[in-house]
Amino acid sequence: MVSAQSVGKSFGALQVLNGVSLEVARGQVACLIGPSGSGKSTFLRCVNHLERINSGRLYVDGELMGYREGGDRLYELSPKQAARQRRDIGMVFQHFNLFPHRTALENIIEAPVQVAGKPKAAAVEQARELLDQVGLADRADHYPAQLSGGQQQRVAIARALAMEPKLMLFDEPTSALDPELVGDVLAVMRRLADDGMTMLVVTHEMGFAREVADQLVFMDAGVVVESGDPREVLANPQHERTQVFLAKLL
Ligand code: ADP
Ligand code: MG
Repeated sequence: MVSAQSVGKSFGALQVLNGVSLEVARGQVACLIGPSGSGKSTFLRCVNHLERINSGRLYVDGELMGYREGGDRLYELSPKQAARQRRDIGMVFQHFNLFPHRTALENIIEAPVQVAGKPKAAAVEQARELLDQVGLADRADHYPAQLSGGQQQRVAIARALAMEPKLMLFDEPTSALDPELVGDVLAVMRRLADDGMTMLVVTHEMGFAREVADQLVFMDAGVVVESGDPREVLANPQHERTQVFLAKLL
């Protein structure tokens, strides 16, 4: 579903991704960890076409979406192709990013109706099912400000799922939450994983990584330092940088 081969990305003189290579198979969950500034968010943003890569190759669902070498533009999706592919990728951010003046239900139906042209009645019916799935059937008419952070994040997940994505990206989805609200969000993500969704999750919730992820990827300074079975990486990290990072985390 995601194949990154030596992906490079710089902002001006700052080289943020230094040749990231990783593979996420369909139906797999990969957790991405690493120090602040190591390029995790930038990598997700490249997968979601919010940033363009400068070198290497990146495939999503078998489709080559960026390929540059030696600074020459060799291949890049057109804006239209990128927009179409982005519709198949759901993204959930640390800070929810719900529309504040729309109810939970209105947030969820927005993209299906406005972007995908789904009939409103069908979108509403689907939104109610999704709210039920994330445990918020009784919050359809609440505005974001009337919901807890954990509830807002579950609405944000439902909103992403409303576009029926084939890949879900999560960027520290529980980092902004009070500790007692984290579990409900992780439970929703775990169910999604159990249902076979392909997921790339930046998180420092090691319990989630250990129990749910098929692969744990440790990034530092714009490269994948180490990856593998989460239990093995956590129990027996091979690289010193991984050991140092995990020692601080646990
Ligand atoms: P992480 O998510 O691992 O904390 P990021 O991908 O957010 O790391 O950032 C990696 C580096 O790239 C940081 O040094 C950050 O300041 C820089 N960076 C991210 N986005 C931009 C941008 N749009 N312009 C310039 N620098 C950026
Ligand atoms: Mg980040």
